[in-house]
Amino acid sequence: MKGQSITSRISGIGIGRGIAIGSVIRMPDPIEDPQDLRRTASVSDEIKRVEESVAATAAELVRRGALVGGEAQDVLVAESLIVGDPTVLDDVRSLIEAGKTAERAVFEAFRNFQSALLQMGGYMAERAADLDDVAHRVIAHLIGVPAPGIPNSDHPFILVANDLAPADTAMLDLSKILALVTSGGGPTAHTAILARSKGLVAIVAAHGAESISTGAQVIIDAAASCIYLEPTDIELANARERQLTQKDVVAPLTPGELSDGTRIPLLANLGSLDEIEAAVTLGAEGVGLFRTEFLFLDEQSAPSLESQTEDYRRLLASFPGKKVVVRTLDAGADKPLAFLQQDNEGNPALGIRGLRAMRRAENIMRQQLEALAKADQETDADLWVMAPMVADAAETAYFTKIAKEYGLKTVGVMAEIPSSALVAEQILAEADFVSIGTNDLTQYTMAADRELNTTASYQNPWHPAVLRLIKLIGDAGTHVGKPVGVCGEAASDPLLAVVLVGLGATTLSMAPAALVDVRAELSKHSLADAQKLALIALSATSAAAAREKVIGS
Ligand code: PEP
Ligand code: MG
Repeated sequence: MKGQSITSRISGIGIGRGIAIGSVIRMPDPIEDPQDLRRTASVSDEIKRVEESVAATAAELVRRGALVGGEAQDVLVAESLIVGDPTVLDDVRSLIEAGKTAERAVFEAFRNFQSALLQMGGYMAERAADLDDVAHRVIAHLIGVPAPGIPNSDHPFILVANDLAPADTAMLDLSKILALVTSGGGPTAHTAILARSKGLVAIVAAHGAESISTGAQVIIDAAASCIYLEPTDIELANARERQLTQKDVVAPLTPGELSDGTRIPLLANLGSLDEIEAAVTLGAEGVGLFRTEFLFLDEQSAPSLESQTEDYRRLLASFPGKKVVVRTLDAGADKPLAFLQQDNEGNPALGIRGLRAMRRAENIMRQQLEALAKADQETDADLWVMAPMVADAAETAYFTKIAKEYGLKTVGVMAEIPSSALVAEQILAEADFVSIGTNDLTQYTMAADRELNTTASYQNPWHPAVLRLIKLIGDAGTHVGKPVGVCGEAASDPLLAVVLVGLGATTLSMAPAALVDVRAELSKHSLADAQKLALIALSATSAAAAREKVIGS
């Protein structure tokens, strides 16, 4: 039996309430672009090294493909063929002969190939993004470090990373990943959102997780926001027992309702069509936020009208008679889309993103609205459409006018920039509804970058400053009689959800995994009670104090 001395622990911010036990595999650090140094080895030695690395990389890709199967296998086999492409290898040889090192020659040759593919456009351009991954794999082999990307393993493991790119998170194989720990990111960064949407046990912003090595045995307790390193037998037994009780909980899938019968529809936040099933199973009464940009993170060119229409048709057909709020592309900052031209901004969160980016590419926004209108005509869901990152009434009027041109009936905007809260009534004069994005609203109110773990403590929607802005929006909605939803991550915190209702939210939208707990908490409070709790939170002097006062009352 292991000693019962205090286990070393690392805390972070837990996503969800799950618990996982297992051994760690670390995500390899990204490969840096090799420097352009002068070659000292002979031409033949360098070429031989490249040939060996190319062969090993191709074999590894084929091996991984056979392990995962399905569509992923096709992608990996295609990559294995690209690695050995004779044109690229000829270019590598010429570059080495011209004095480059093997690493640099591989880097430059793949970059040249990438530009050529991009110029061809269409399918070839779509494959261009794969070349970065392929080149980095060969370079990793040349310098003798692990290949980049999500590690693969034949046994389930706990993935520990500095942070994940959105595309990496989307690709996670949930049959293998027991839990995710990142030292970077905050509670509303894309990694946390995707982890929440996949129902993955996760802890983000875990300072100190850099020191956890591959092979370490850990318990990941998301509810306690704690990572137990090399846990004791007692801790392991407790964790196993909690895992079993969590599996046994089967809550009734009733509609969201306060104890006095006030209806608060509980909706799902979705980022892909694969998540629909979980939302329906967990009793979502519709969709409160469909993040369309997540459909296109990997696309090199704008998606066609037909493919978009098909995606939206599938979404709407899954919720007959139910409300489905689809958000137009929210590109920029942490979610760049390759097909939208992006300036090299010093501070992209304050730059051209959301509706601002779509105004520059209005044809792409129009095509998306057309696809939504077509899918709407062919299905029975109650489609609502909204634009992200809207600053004021003029921007609202711009968007609603265009959306209505396509025959879309219910058109609104997200309230996630503080300015929109201050002029909420003006915005509601132009829109059918607003949906509060507490993730960005908190980021901009507290001047705390969502992607930075160093500012994670500021990214707390319990802060009275954030709650006061939400109240402005809630009051405006009550005054003009229009719906005010909340679709930021705040709605998935059961107690905060009650406070949000007290501030005027008429619907709440969250990752499906949070529906059960939020539904249960709402049923314990009347509207008058929720309003009382909201006042208590508003008068607190910090986020922590607001939460404590509400818990204690
Ligand atoms: C938000 O900002 O709260 C929101 C729901 O949008 P996203 O997280 O996609 O920026
Ligand atoms: Mg947002």
